[in-house]
Amino acid sequence: MMSGDEKVILAAAVERYGEGAQLVKCCEELSELAHAICKRFDVSVGYERDGEEVVEEIADVEIMLEQLRVILRVDPEMEQRWRERKLNRLRRRLGV
Ligand SMILES: [Mg+2]
Repeated sequence: MMSGDEKVILAAAVERYGEGAQLVKCCEELSELAHAICKRFDVSVGYERDGEEVVEEIADVEIMLEQLRVILRVDPEMEQRWRERKLNRLRRRLGV
């Protein structure tokens, strides 16, 4: 859950840089996270579990997802319904 300070910062970013630029930035950060995850996998040793790059990119993506919610005026209740639907489907598939 975002704090009041975080909401002010994110709204200011959207205001300063513009909605279009932040949508593009969101895509860039998503691809940076994907790249960092792929780099963590080394076929000779398997997954490297140390290093902060993935964690840094997770933070970037979460910040951009919050801005995406602001820009697209995502309804929190709708998002929560989708989340529950997806988790329920996963739970059924896993049988847990
Ligand atoms: Mg990044």
